[in-house]
Parts: sequence; C-alpha cells; structure tokens
Amino acid sequence: MQHEKLVIIGSGPAGFTAAIYAARADLNPLVLEGKQPGGQLMGTTEIENWPGATEGLTGPKLMSDLREQAKKFGARTEFKYVERVDFSNSDKLHLWIGEEEITADSVIIATGASARWLNLGKGEERYWGKGYSACATCDGAFFRGKTVAVVGGGDSACEEAMFLTKFAEKVYQLVRRDEMRASKPMQQRVLDNPKIEVIWNTAPSNLKGEKILESVELTDTQTQEKQDLKIDGLFVAIGHTPNTGFLGESVELDRGFIKVTDHTKTNVKSVFVAGDVADPHYQQAVVAAGSGCKAALDAEDYLSRLSRY
Ligand code: NDP
Repeated sequence: MQHEKLVIIGSGPAGFTAAIYAARADLNPLVLEGKQPGGQLMGTTEIENWPGATEGLTGPKLMSDLREQAKKFGARTEFKYVERVDFSNSDKLHLWIGEEEITADSVIIATGASARWLNLGKGEERYWGKGYSACATCDGAFFRGKTVAVVGGGDSACEEAMFLTKFAEKVYQLVRRDEMRASKPMQQRVLDNPKIEVIWNTAPSNLKGEKILESVELTDTQTQEKQDLKIDGLFVAIGHTPNTGFLGESVELDRGFIKVTDHTKTNVKSVFVAGDVADPHYQQAVVAAGSGCKAALDAEDYLSRLSRY
C-alpha cells in the first residue's frame, strides 16, 4: 500500500501554497487535486487584488503558475478525488480514492468550497446547462446579444454581472434585500454600468421554459408579489458551501466548516487545514494562500517531532 509522509487534498491557492512550502521543506508532498483542479479561481477572470499583480493576471494563469511552482520544488500532483477517509488512528491516516487506499503520516485538507444553488426543487436540474449556470466565465459567451440575470448581491454576483456585459445585451442583477453585501467599489461599478439593471428586494421562486430556460418567476421579498422576467440565461452567485462531505465524522466541524483548534490544527493532531473549507469569513484567495503556508509550517513542525524522521 502506498504510504506518504504528507498528503495535501485540494488544488486551489491554499493547497498549492501548502505544497510549495512543504516541498521546499523536503516533505515530498503528494497533492491530490480533486474534481475541480485549480479550485474556484479557475472560474474567475482577472484578479485585481492579488498582491503584486498589477495587470492581466487571470485565475487559470495564477493556478497554473502555482502548480508549476509546487512541482518545481518536487511536489507530486495527481488528478485524484478523495472519496472517504478514516482518521481514527492519527498515527496512520487512511484515504480512499475509489478502491485505491493511501496511508499518510500527515494530511492538509484544502478542499475549498463549492457554489451554492437556489434549491427551487426539481426544476433547477432540468435547466442546468440549458440557460441555468453558476459560472459566467464558463458559459457567458453563449449569451452574446441576449438577456441574462444574475442572482446575488455579493462580490461574486457583481463580478459575474460585469463580466456578462461583455456578451449580453442586458444584464439584470437580482438582489433579495434593498442593499448589497458586495464591497462599495464593486457595487459602484455595477450601478454605473448602463447594461446592468439591479432589481432590489427580489428572489427567484421558479424557473420556466419548454426545453430551455425562458423566464424566471420573481417574488418580491417585501410584498410577496410574483412576476415573470423573460431571460435567456440565469447565473447564480449566492455564496459557497465548504467541501467536507468526504470527511464523514473524521474531523470536527463547526457550522459546516472544519473547526480549527489552534493555528491550522484540527481535532486530529496529524491533520491540518487551509483555505475556504475552514473559513466562513474572509474567503479570499490571498487569505487561502496564506493559510496554506501556515498549514505546511504546522505539518512540518508536527512531522519533525515524529521519532521516525
Ligand atoms: P457572499 O456570501 O458574500 O454573498 C452571497 C450573496 O447571495 C448575498 O447577496 C446574499 O444575500 C445572496 N443570497 C444568498 N442566498 C440567496 C438566495 N437563496 N437567493 C437569493 N440571494 C441569495 O458570497 P460571494 O460568493 O459573493 O463572496 C464570498 C466571498 O468571496 C466574500 O468574502 C467576497 O468578498 C469574496 N469575493 C471577492 C471578490 C473580489 O474581491 N474580487 C470576488 C468574489 C468574491 P444576503 O446579503 O441577503 O445574505
């Protein structure tokens, strides 16, 4: 059976920063990249707030550079998805990829978070890929000259709405309250964009259309009045859920996020955590990268205390 000193689960900025630090510390880490290699940044356009990136840095470019940097220092990366784990013996951690089993002295969990859906019932799945999407970067170009709507009032929704104006003729942004959660500069850009119309106090309550999405039923969150809005595409950007399903009860959670006990430590002494999977608050790439660095240093410290190293 394959035994590893350090396995890093996840390949976003947290996972690859952990890999860079761990590889430079000669820990010979194995990165299991998961179902969405590169993480959430693969679906973003230009990143304006990555320190030092004065212009032209895209999410996919940053992730490909981070992967290369980690590999340059000796990290091994594999496109494998961990389905379940058993951390009951903290001296020998077990991970399964299908039938394949890997054991490890130490693990860094950096599995991030996934887009949240509206949960409107079975109608939602029916329109998936037929006008209903959670990724403007992936699907925006299909809506050239069309009318689309973005759900949400956070930074992601504002970013998606602005990105979609490159293609769509008209972009509605559907905000469920009378104010947005997004940062002020983001909001201002949306409000200043002539192609975007914000509809306040409104939430989608139903999706309609014969074979593809044709309209969305909106409910006024104050009066409960309903109205149909004709659209060609609906993009949801209403936040994320931490990716912890594969952990079962192996690691303690706090409101769905991995509970951090001290620095990047979890309740299992050989398991560390980095990035959005343990961060209900900041959810920024640079914060995730910083926590990846911390998790690698904590894992290095833990491994250095084991008598066999
Ligand atoms: P947020 O949690 O910040 O915002 C989610 C938005 O969706 C809120 O407006 C929320 O409304 C709304 N919402 C939630 N559920 C529903 C629902 N069922 N129906 C309708 N609306 C709903 O998530 P984001 O993904 O936007 O951002 C996450 C983090 O990432 C934030 O910290 C953000 O700052 C950061 N980020 C930063 C970027 C940048 O700086 N370039 C880009 C993108 C994200 P309500 O406010 O009423 O709860």
